[in-house]
Parts: sequence; structure tokens; C-alpha cells
Amino acid sequence: MLFVAPLLLLTILFGLLVTAILVSGKTSFISAPGVLVAGILIYGATLFVLSLTGVSSIRELEDLGRRDGLSGLPNRNALHQDFKRYAQSDEEAAMALIDLDGFKQVNDHLGHFVGDQVIRYCGDVLEEICGKEARCYRLGGDEFAILMLGPVAGTILEGMCRNFLDRLEAPVPIGERRLAIGASIGLANSKGSDDLSSSEMLRRADVAMYASKRSGRMRCTWYTTDFDRDREAVQELDDDLRKALADEEFALHYQPLVDASTKKIVAVEALIRWNRADGKPVGPHLFIPVAEETGLINPIGLWVLRQACTDALGWGEIKLSVNISAAQLRNAEFPIKLGQILEETGFPAERLELEITETCLVMDPIIAERSLEMIRGFGVNVSLDDFGTGYASIGFLRQFRFEKLKLDRSLVVQAGDDDGSRAMMLSSITLARALKMGVTAEGVETEAQAELVRTAGCDQIQGWLYYKAMPADQIYGLLEEQSAEDAGAAHLRIIN
Ligand code: C2E
Ligand code: MG
Ligand code: MG
Repeated sequence: MLFVAPLLLLTILFGLLVTAILVSGKTSFISAPGVLVAGILIYGATLFVLSLTGVSSIRELEDLGRRDGLSGLPNRNALHQDFKRYAQSDEEAAMALIDLDGFKQVNDHLGHFVGDQVIRYCGDVLEEICGKEARCYRLGGDEFAILMLGPVAGTILEGMCRNFLDRLEAPVPIGERRLAIGASIGLANSKGSDDLSSSEMLRRADVAMYASKRSGRMRCTWYTTDFDRDREAVQELDDDLRKALADEEFALHYQPLVDASTKKIVAVEALIRWNRADGKPVGPHLFIPVAEETGLINPIGLWVLRQACTDALGWGEIKLSVNISAAQLRNAEFPIKLGQILEETGFPAERLELEITETCLVMDPIIAERSLEMIRGFGVNVSLDDFGTGYASIGFLRQFRFEKLKLDRSLVVQAGDDDGSRAMMLSSITLARALKMGVTAEGVETEAQAELVRTAGCDQIQGWLYYKAMPADQIYGLLEEQSAEDAGAAHLRIIN
């Protein structure tokens, strides 16, 4: 390629010279046939050098602009052009958008060199799976696409995508390393929609891909028009949440946790409430997932932490539990902000417990481990919330070492109904005890459930049987009563 640029420049200069001569009419010092011969020679030399450097035709030069340099696969331009060609036929066209999971962590922690190898590996696997039946593309970053045309393109394409996910079940071998890489896939089909542009197909596949990511990754999802309606609803709720944060419409309630044997309040869990201006109640199970998706959970979560630390400052020695979302833990700034809040409010770190769910760990184990290490460095405890609803992986319990395990209400309820669930609850408690964790049973509503979890070995109980969540001032009142009772009991002991 080094020769090409000077030769092209020479050809252009020569062209300019010939034009200047023709315009000025002074052809006397160079004969016309001479000019022609020299021109042909330079053109021939340019073609010769181009063929020597491997770029033997203009077509190949064009092709270079349609290829991704790293993976060697066709690129985004090629996808759009191919789709336009496909759209001219009457056959069904199907498109898959593939986004790798865990790729950013590989790049951040192991460097771009390793990241590049992962991209090449995935590109090769996709090419192998597509064979001659479909065409695969790298769109940029960790995004790939597959395009397919034919009578049952959608069905075959979905099969290919599932095949790709199966291949990623095994760790990706890069040199000595074995890397856990996943993928979320969105699928879109031209069937039933006339005149779909390539951008619209890509948008639909993208929307479906995000649905795959939301529902736990390593899956394929087909686009449906419902997704667009859901997106509008999410957008609307996001706008309302932003306003709510600015207008201070959020409040915190606190639910007491009692000691399983003494039934005294030993901790409180902060639970967010949204007092909407229009009076419509919206529970955290509805708005927290939206805030997580749009990133608004970061400022909301910091508000919760600051407010809870301020409220609980005067509540004696009891612990304060605050829920932390996966998106917050993924944010590298979070541990720093937590440190600032502890300093600003003066809240003792040893009284604070952060509740996280398994989702935090499954999605980004590397980042989660690093953030948890920093958090523990302050002296803050970490609890695993909603245990029994997700993957419940014993490996996670060993890897992350939590100070407390919180058994989800569903596990507690089922344990009262069937032997299998009871066995699972008992073995979870035994395991947690062996790993030196405290165990709290959540959502206890009846005396029978309380008795069951108490005898099973839970040391704390949370549930409506004892207390519902309530505003901060009521907690203060309860704690006052509790310490008055304690003082009374101590007084009686002294008298007796
Ligand atoms: P969680 O952390 O597991 O909180 C316990 C939920 O169970 C609370 O629901 C609580 O009111 C409810 N609960 C407690 N005892 C009982 C009972 O005996 N029976 C029944 N049926 N329910 C009981 P809530 O307040 O609606 O919160 C739901 C979820 O929203 C929480 O589950 C937590 O995952 C999330 N959440 C709440 N506040 C926050 C927050 O400030 N930040 C984050 N990231 N998530 C929050
Ligand atoms: Mg919780
Ligand atoms: Mg829970």
C-alpha cells in the first residue's frame, strides 16, 4: 500500500498537467501521442502496483469498506446494503442482533488485547454456525448480527442463535485463560410487515435484544409490537421518577427485624415509598426495575442511603439495612459515594448492612467482588437478599462471603406447605451457619411460620406477624418503648 499513494498522486498531477496544457493550448512542447503514451504507462504502473499489494480491483477496494478490520466479517454498511438487496425479493428475511455479555469486564480487567481475541473467537464461531446458509456481521464493539433469507428464515435463524448460546455455555479459551462470556440475542422478522427498512429491522432486533438482557441474558427473544408499547410506558415512568426525585416525592419507611428468640427489635430495613402528587400508589417492585433500567437508581439509591443514615443516627445500637440494586453496585463510583455519605452523616459503618440480590453477582461478578471488597473495607456488612428466588448458587455463597442470608418469603411460605421446600430451607440454613452467616427469615406472617424458622435455626425474623414498615418517627417511638421495657425489667431483676 506504500506505493499506491505516490502513484495515485503522480497520476492526478499528470492529469492536471495535461488539462493545463489543453486549456492553454500550448501543446507544442509535448506531442499529443507522447502525452497519451505517458498516461497509459502511469495508469498501467498504478494497476500493477495495486495488484502487487493485493488490492487487485476497484471491487476489492470497495469490499474493504464493507468489512470489519478486527474480525474480518462484513460490517454494518454491508448489513444495510445486503438487507436492501434482500428486501427486493418476496422471501422472508430474518435478522438477529447479538450482544455479548461480560465483554466490557474482559476489556476493562484483562485489556483490549484479550478483548480483541474474544471478538475474533466469537466471529469465527458465528461464521462456522452460519455456514453458507446465512451471513454474519460485526456491527462494532461487542455487537454482531446475522441476516438470513428464505421460506423459513426465522426458524432456522433462531436455531442458529440457540446453537451460538450453547457454544458460549463453555468458557471461551483465550491463551491460558478460560473466560465466561455470554450473549443476549434479539430477533426480528420481515414477515407480515411491508417495506421494512434495514434500520427499522435493526431497531426491532435491538429492542428484542434488550428484552433478552432484562430477562436474565443468555437467551433469544423475538420482537413484538408490545415491546414498543412497553418502552413508551417505561419512558413515561422514567419522566415521572425524575420529577419525583426533584420534587422530593420519595419517603422512607422502616420495617423492624426482631431477634428470633427474644423478639426484640435488632435491626430495621429501609424501604422506599413514592408519594405521587396524583395520589396513585406505585410500589417499589414496579418503579425500582424501571429506575434500574434507565440508570436513575443511582441518584435515587444515594438519596435513600443518605436519608436512612440520617434517620437512624439516633436509634441506639440497632442495625440499619439498605437495599442496593445491581446497577448501583456496577457503578464504580458507588463505594466512593458510600464513604462520603458515612462521613457526612457520621453514621457508624458497623451499624450499616447493604442488601444485595443474586442478580448483582450473576451479571457482573468481577465488578461486584471488587466493589464489595471496598464496601467491607469501610466496616459495612453485606447481606444476600431474597435467597431462594434466583440461582441460589452455593458457589456464590462461598465466593462472596456474606455476613447475612435473607430467606425469601416464598421459601418461608412453601416450607410450611411441602417437604421438598422445607428440606431446601433447612439445608440453606445449615449451609449459611457453616459459612458463619446470620440467617433472617423474611415475610413471616403467622405464628406457625415463625416457629418453623426459629426451630430451623434463623436468628432474626422479619414479617407482618411482628411489624409492618412504618415512618421513621414511629420507629423512634417503638425503640423508646423497648428501652423503657428493658429498663423496667432490669429494675425488677435488681429488686428481686
Ligand atoms: P425486599 O428488600 O425483599 O423487602 C421486603 C419486602 O417484603 C418489602 O416490600 C416488605 O414490605 C415486604 N414484606 C415484609 N414483610 C412481609 C410480610 O410479612 N408479608 C408480605 N406479603 N410482605 C412483606 P416492599 O416495601 O414493597 O419492597 C419490595 C422490594 O422493593 C424490596 O424487597 C426491595 O427489593 C425493593 N426496594 C424497596 N426499597 C428499596 C430501595 O430503597 N432501594 C432498592 N434498590 N430496592 C428497594
Ligand atoms: Mg431487602
Ligand atoms: Mg427480600
